[in-house]
Amino acid sequence: MHSSGKCVSENMGRRKILFIMLDGIGGLPVNDGKTEWEITPTPNLDSLARKGAYGLMHPIKMGVIPGSDTSQLNILGYPPKTYYPGRGPLEALGIGMEVSENDVAFRANFATVDNSFNVIDRRAGRIDTNAASELAKAISNIEIDGMQFIFKNSVEHRGALIVRGNGLSANVEDTDPHATGVQVAQPSINKENAKIVRAINKYTAKVHKILKSHPLNKNRDNPANILLLRGAGKMKKVEPFKNKYGMKACCVAGAALYKGIARYIGMDVINVKGATGTYESDLNAKADASLKMLDKYDFVYLHVKGMDNAGHDGSVKKRMHMIKKIDRMVGRLLSADAVIVATGDHSTPTVRKSHSFEPVPFLVSNVDARDYGIKKFCEVECRKGELGIFNGELALNITMAYAGRVEKYGE
Ligand code: ZN
Ligand code: ZN
Repeated sequence: MHSSGKCVSENMGRRKILFIMLDGIGGLPVNDGKTEWEITPTPNLDSLARKGAYGLMHPIKMGVIPGSDTSQLNILGYPPKTYYPGRGPLEALGIGMEVSENDVAFRANFATVDNSFNVIDRRAGRIDTNAASELAKAISNIEIDGMQFIFKNSVEHRGALIVRGNGLSANVEDTDPHATGVQVAQPSINKENAKIVRAINKYTAKVHKILKSHPLNKNRDNPANILLLRGAGKMKKVEPFKNKYGMKACCVAGAALYKGIARYIGMDVINVKGATGTYESDLNAKADASLKMLDKYDFVYLHVKGMDNAGHDGSVKKRMHMIKKIDRMVGRLLSADAVIVATGDHSTPTVRKSHSFEPVPFLVSNVDARDYGIKKFCEVECRKGELGIFNGELALNITMAYAGRVEKYGE
């Protein structure tokens, strides 16, 4: 290797990849026919766009409204039809639980019910994390009918539950009624799931009994006196990312779900202080950690959540705030000796306050590319590029091609 690090064979060789996943990036016109991206200055992303190839991506495929989990699995080369394990296992992995193949995992949250099991508050007055951790100790490991119920809390009222036993079905409906003023739901029973559903009903009653008499609940207006369960799922057999692509990979993310997705496909998770998955998340710290990780890893997956939150909140102002913050983060990444991708997992337009099917910008930069005259990194200008409009399953292939990581097809 030349000491300059610039010899031809090296430049043609395998390069590292920094993959920036901007959750809920795509928008619809909010101001004079323009999206937030079109009206917010993004000098750093624009400079990346001028030395890259770009297009639009349907994260799953045209006309599908993607969830974050299914979409990101698809983009990373794990089609959700085959590999989606349900939300429970991803959440459990994301908060650091060990989930094994036979386990059934749920998202679980503390809630408030009255004596007839009517739900009064689905978040138990948004109980703070410390109090929730204290309560969790009382119910962290309970055995019922030979099954082990392992609960771990995460942030505020949230957590995950693993049910461990033999031959358990994950075909279990939510006990969370997703509404207040109604009773905790009883999952319907069939031949396949009878064993686990009966145990879950007993578990719910037992947890209520333990929590309602817990001293910490005595003075709470909304006692955290039950767990509501949703998103049952089971792990699938997954070929680890490293084996599949020959790249050692890590993930830098704030929120649990994205750490869970990364662990699920065998990526290392890097915990960064101040990375929270909220508007306040420390994106500079995430950028610095990502740069550092490029020394050790071939593929760094940097996830930023805030734009999606702002879309759900219907706030143009917050989306523009996040765009500026993201662009500053990108400014710190310009020096990376890597192929840099900037894209998203779906649109979350403020006018809809929910995910939508419109394609998202896709940019692969720091590469030799033709100049199609892009003026700005945004939904409309990315349409000009040679990547055209493609489906998410191609995203990693395209990226790896630009990184010199695909073989010639034929002779
Ligand atoms: Zn998303
Ligand atoms: Zn969302």
